[in-house]
Amino acid sequence: MSAPAPVAVVGAGWAGAAAAHRLHRLGLAVHVYERAPVTGGHSRAERLRGVLYEPNGPHIFHTANPEVAALVGRHGMARRYEHRVLTEVYLHEDDDAPRLLAWPPQVSELRELPLWPRVAAELAARPRTPSRTDLEAYCVSIMGRTLFDLFIRDYTEKQWGRSAHELSAAFAPGRLELRDDGYRRLFRDPWEFFPPDGPQTVIDSLLVGVPVTTGARLGIGDLDDLARRHSAVVLTAPLDEFTGRTGELAWRGIRTVSCYEPTHGPGSTATPGYVVNRPSHRVPYTRTVETKHASGQRVQGTVVSYEYPGSAERHYPVPTPDRRYERRNAELKDVIRARSPIPVHFCGRLADYTYINQDRAIEQGLACARQVADHLLHAADAPTRPVRTENRSPA
Ligand SMILES: Cc1cc2nc3c(=O)[nH]c(=O)nc-3n(C[C@H](O)[C@H](O)[C@H](O)COP(=O)(O)OP(=O)(O)OC[C@H]3O[C@@H](n4cnc5c(N)ncnc54)[C@H](O)[C@@H]3O)c2cc1C
Repeated sequence: MSAPAPVAVVGAGWAGAAAAHRLHRLGLAVHVYERAPVTGGHSRAERLRGVLYEPNGPHIFHTANPEVAALVGRHGMARRYEHRVLTEVYLHEDDDAPRLLAWPPQVSELRELPLWPRVAAELAARPRTPSRTDLEAYCVSIMGRTLFDLFIRDYTEKQWGRSAHELSAAFAPGRLELRDDGYRRLFRDPWEFFPPDGPQTVIDSLLVGVPVTTGARLGIGDLDDLARRHSAVVLTAPLDEFTGRTGELAWRGIRTVSCYEPTHGPGSTATPGYVVNRPSHRVPYTRTVETKHASGQRVQGTVVSYEYPGSAERHYPVPTPDRRYERRNAELKDVIRARSPIPVHFCGRLADYTYINQDRAIEQGLACARQVADHLLHAADAPTRPVRTENRSPA
């Protein structure tokens, strides 16, 4: 029985790296193709004048999955971190002294505000079950109109370029909440990390022993060529771009402007927290990110990244209430499968047109590798079956 040809993995972010790692461990040959000059994908951190910062937004690694925690732990994800988020809130139109409040909003903190009586009345009038009609209805049903206006309305308009009323509530449960338990960390997962040199160090460790070609942007036209040298494809690229049908899927991107700022000492920072949400329309950006708070790096200077919404980058899928883009993405998978001479498997945030955290991308990569391996080993087994039958027949 000859070994199957290598599996081609397109993309060297978490999903591609996890899939490649698992295939390699299962004894299958694998080759990763990455369009960027470096591995690491969207989570990758960079350095500006020696200061670690995140060009694609803040990436805290958190998971409740023990298998994922153990895997990344074996590959260097060791530095524990507890993530907290602040929101800069103007309590009324003429307010020129914003307050920094916890995100998600905390009832204990809100009680100290002059507008608490109104908030309390709205909370008392909440429905028993949260509304799922749209994002605005969901938020108002869990936190009342005043808190929705303060924390979410303008942030959503800036972030998505449309009102919360026009967006699905599908992604809101578990992400948007009002807390009355004093728990100040954003995540509740038992494992939470921030790798001091960025997630790509862990991704690179997963890829040890796997050949990687960088600077290789593949598209649907490359499938015939891939099929000559590979047995299957794991695709983690965006399908509208891969098929040359850019525009068929809607994406919302952020433009990050990262600025170096001098500091008074190696431990000093420039903003009040790693992530500070800035919902107000008074500033054009949605939040500031200062990674030095999370990396713990002791270095002169810092980098503050300002996130401006509305770029052409493929950061977030657009969750319309009718899920039209999810359906189109499923059709694009069919187009690719029909066009490819070898099996194509899909995983990751881009190919699945979904917002997922890093741990979920790893889970998807591992599951995809299992699927590919089952398929290939089953196919490799197939010609041997008649032999076994013959062996059994004399008995
Ligand atoms: C603003 C923002 C903040 C986030 N914060 C967090 C967080 O705090 N914690 C968390 O857990 N998750 C966070 N995430 C989610 C996290 O970014 C994803 O879970 C993770 O990047 C998914 O990995 P992936 O491999 O699916 O995709 P990617 O990391 O995007 O990897 C895909 C790879 O494929 C390559 N590629 C694309 N097209 C081609 C092609 N045609 N040919 C070859 N290569 C190609 C890309 O260059 C890329 O390297 C955040 C996401 C966003 C948008």
